[in-house]
Amino acid sequence: MSLLVVGSVAFDSVKTPFGEAKEVLGGSATYFSTAASYFTEVKLVAVVGEDFPESHLAFLKEKGVDFEGLERRPGRTFRWRGEYGYQLNEAKTLDTQLNVFESFRPKLPSSYRDAAVVFLANIDPELQLDVLKQVKQPKLVACDTMNFWIGGKRDALIKTLGEVDILIINDGEARELAGEFNLVKVAKKILSFGPKILIIKRGEYGALMFNGQTTFAAPALPLENVFDPTGAGDSFAGGFMGYLSQNGSMNEAALRQAVIYGSVMASFNVEAFSLDRMRTLTREEINARYKEFQSLTFFESA
Ligand code: AMP
Repeated sequence: MSLLVVGSVAFDSVKTPFGEAKEVLGGSATYFSTAASYFTEVKLVAVVGEDFPESHLAFLKEKGVDFEGLERRPGRTFRWRGEYGYQLNEAKTLDTQLNVFESFRPKLPSSYRDAAVVFLANIDPELQLDVLKQVKQPKLVACDTMNFWIGGKRDALIKTLGEVDILIINDGEARELAGEFNLVKVAKKILSFGPKILIIKRGEYGALMFNGQTTFAAPALPLENVFDPTGAGDSFAGGFMGYLSQNGSMNEAALRQAVIYGSVMASFNVEAFSLDRMRTLTREEINARYKEFQSLTFFESA
């Protein structure tokens, strides 16, 4: 099934205790599309400015991402600047420049309107809803968001949540959205906003999936080399949604497998700055790491 994503395509400037990268390729939709491209056909909706180089487009093309829906407008590309301490789980945003996103109102190419699976990556919730309305009959819709929009556009975000099946969000932002600290209470509250499934990403502690009845927990792989957590959440979502689109089934078993594929893609992404690890990553490495996750969590009945 084809997968459509709307989100940011960005220049990121990132500082971690292990190094620094300036004005490198980033953005929620970029990380998502690249991770998902290992599983299925991805259609990207976003906007960039005149300063966006051909080499970045060539990268997306090489990954097989369909970017007919990526507009180029007069002005500057979205920019984000953030910093991480040794506690790599949460970025401190230093600067957000929406630039060409400020006036972006996409009109989906006709080939995009039949998409079966839709991911509304982190971007203005009004834009998320605008894109969703243009898709004819999506079978599965998921979204992500962050504190910038929870604080800045809460009403629009709650509206978007009323239209989605799955919310994938990190723990700090889930707590902020729900106004609760305890994650079980957070899940109850967020599921009452509309989504049937909530996935809470917890950085080095893995991910939790709630559906109101059962809870599934996946660890994160203990990694020796972590350089830059930027995009881990979007890579998780790309692996998760990409696998579901490829698999076609949305039952509990498939959802759990998808959480592991999401964790696999996030684990690769943090091994290098920007999308650099994805430049060399192969499907064979993904399959091998899926097995590593299986053995990491396997235990015998007592
Ligand atoms: P994450 O997967 O949560 O680490 O997402 C990181 C990406 O989100 C970066 O590449 C940023 O360009 C992008 N980003 C940061 N702030 C925003 C925002 N307010 N809206 C959309 N994208 C953002």
